[in-house]
Amino acid sequence: MLIELTGRLATKLQTLRKERNIKPAMMWCPKCQTRHRAAPPQVSVRATILAMRRFGIADDETVKVLEKRWKTHRDKQQLNLYGAPEGTPVPSHHVTDQGLPRKP
Ligand SMILES: [Zn+2]
Repeated sequence: MLIELTGRLATKLQTLRKERNIKPAMMWCPKCQTRHRAAPPQVSVRATILAMRRFGIADDETVKVLEKRWKTHRDKQQLNLYGAPEGTPVPSHHVTDQGLPRKP
C-alpha cells in the first residue's frame, strides 16, 4: 500500500515536471568529468512517509509507526529505498534524453 503510494507519487511528480518543463539541475559529474543534468529525482518510500506528515495526512505518531513498519518490511523483503527488490538497478543519471554528457 505504501509502496504503491510511492509509485503513484513518483508518476505524479514526473508528469508535473514534464508539464511544467522542469529539467534537473546542471551538475558537475565526477564520473564523466563534465557538467550535465542530474538524474530526475526519485521518490523513496521514506520521502513518501515524510510527505504525509508535511501535508498533514499523518501525525507524528503515525509517521513513527509507518517508518518502523517500513524498515521491518524492507529488511524482511530485502527491498531498496524505493520499494523495489534489492539489486534492482536504479536508473543511472545518464539514462535521460536531456543532458547527456558531451563527448570530449
Ligand atoms: Zn555523468
